[in-house]
Amino acid sequence: MTRILDDPASFADDALDGFAAANRRYVARVDGGVVRSTEMVEGQVALVIGGGSGHYPAFAGLVGQGLAAGAACGNMFASPAAGQVYRVAKTAQNGGGVLLSYGNYAGDVLHFGQAELRLNAEGIETRTVLVTDDIASAPVDQLENRRGIAGDLTVFKVAGAAAEAGLNLDDVERLARKANYRTRSLGVAFDGCTLPGADQPLFSVQPDHMSLGLGIHGEPGISDHPMPTASELAELLVSKLLEDKPDDAGSRVAVLVNGLGTVKYEELFLLYGRIETLLASAGLEIVEPECGELVTSLDMAGVSLTLLWLDDELETYWAAPADTPAFRKGNVAARPHRDVQQLAAETEAAFPKPTPAAAALGGSAVVLLDAVRSVIIEHETELGTIDAVAGDGDHGIGMRRGIEAAADAASQAAGSSAGVDRVLTAAGEAWSEKAGGTSGALWGSGLIALAHSLGNRESYGPQDAFSAASAFGAAIRNLGKAEPGDKTMVDALIPYLDAFSEHLDNGATVADTLTAAAGAATAAAEQTAALRPRKGRARPLAEKSVGHPDPGAVSFALIAESVAHAVRDLTTEKEYAHE
Ligand code: ADP
Ligand code: MG
Repeated sequence: MTRILDDPASFADDALDGFAAANRRYVARVDGGVVRSTEMVEGQVALVIGGGSGHYPAFAGLVGQGLAAGAACGNMFASPAAGQVYRVAKTAQNGGGVLLSYGNYAGDVLHFGQAELRLNAEGIETRTVLVTDDIASAPVDQLENRRGIAGDLTVFKVAGAAAEAGLNLDDVERLARKANYRTRSLGVAFDGCTLPGADQPLFSVQPDHMSLGLGIHGEPGISDHPMPTASELAELLVSKLLEDKPDDAGSRVAVLVNGLGTVKYEELFLLYGRIETLLASAGLEIVEPECGELVTSLDMAGVSLTLLWLDDELETYWAAPADTPAFRKGNVAARPHRDVQQLAAETEAAFPKPTPAAAALGGSAVVLLDAVRSVIIEHETELGTIDAVAGDGDHGIGMRRGIEAAADAASQAAGSSAGVDRVLTAAGEAWSEKAGGTSGALWGSGLIALAHSLGNRESYGPQDAFSAASAFGAAIRNLGKAEPGDKTMVDALIPYLDAFSEHLDNGATVADTLTAAAGAATAAAEQTAALRPRKGRARPLAEKSVGHPDPGAVSFALIAESVAHAVRDLTTEKEYAHE
């Protein structure tokens, strides 16, 4: 349990503030996480890592020379929001592009994915390599579905060293991918962990037992075993990992014995000794092993073993020097400090002050969001009921939380004079942060793309409206990867965009075009009743869903209708004002 705290709600942030204060030599605190406080070489690739808090030294402790350029840090065990990832990456990057790398968890994939789209849209070339080392989480023929645990460190280390050596983004990405492919881990837990402020652990393990393959947030293990001796535990971990060896494995391996939170170093060393003997008798040569707390899980009692199967190239970067708060190796020539607050201020200044006319349009964006808020509140219960047919019933409440946060954030941004871009970006960030759920990340991302497409101008024409709607659609499709017919909001979105472009080409006004497009979305949403879900949470209960429309398609259509009405009201008001 956690004994030292003031307010459980701010525990992660308070701890990060103190961490940054204690490690100014390495890191500087920025909104959303930390970045390197030492200068990088101009054009160097920035490795940006991150995830939930509670895993120290992952992720903030791995920021520094030879490793990560920044870490986005979410709440306890919760993904950082897309806006946090974006701001950390934007401050950390130094002209050579960004490699995002993090453990494969659904929330992180959505939020980092959204940040990746936004960075690329702004011309900062950004790629992603997911860490998928946990052999207990999916079979070997589904490597890409495995989750990330202590293998984070091998992948980050190789990528960070390659970036420090001046390799370009293609090569850093390729090496990170190879390191991930050749990294395999397996862990055991002896006891659960407790979130700060909670009085019960998140999970527990039977006394005198261990759970094999339990995830770092208490995800279920593959089997429970009576507590073995150290030698038996070493034998179990080594044999399972050797069975899972990658095709192209050689005979040289980096070995990590990782403590998950409350296992003594002496116990870890004892286990390491047994493991080394077993690996040596299997004919393997061990290169630069690590034994200690590398990726933890609050106060969880447990250990994991990781093997990185080296080749010459990987060995070079695994063994290269690094200097970070929690991971130091070899001799690193100290680099001068940089003015991180200045860099962060420049990131902030990327939004220029709007003219009064542009700011007035920012106000109109708030009016539209308020209209959307009303329609969602009106239909909240109905959306929840449709989602409960084959999903988890949270679509109504999720959409309400999202739009309420979005409309509030938008009105706050508009209050301090902002154009459409800034108002809608604030709305999108708040939406994905507060809504939770798949739809929240999608709507947040869509709004940010829409904001970026519109920019901060003094007037918009019909073509601008269509470009913005298309950008919204592209973001939803890039992030969610749903195809037409999968029974998602995409099945209402595509007919919406088709009708939009058709009416625009025929010379209709924006208000008429939006009305016609919304009508097409409403009809299409009703027609999703005939489909079987192939994406999202409703997939396992596909049969139950037939005969009922898709909740995300229905809410999209409702929103389209409310935006059409609100735009008509706004333009009519303007016409009166002109008379
Ligand atoms: P969750 O599924 O996480 O509970 P919601 O219930 O809020 O989130 O949203 C469910 C809706 O999200 C679905 O009805 C569908 O329209 C939409 N959705 C789910 N996955 C995708 C996807 N990959 N692409 C587009 N839309 C999706
Ligand atoms: Mg749901």
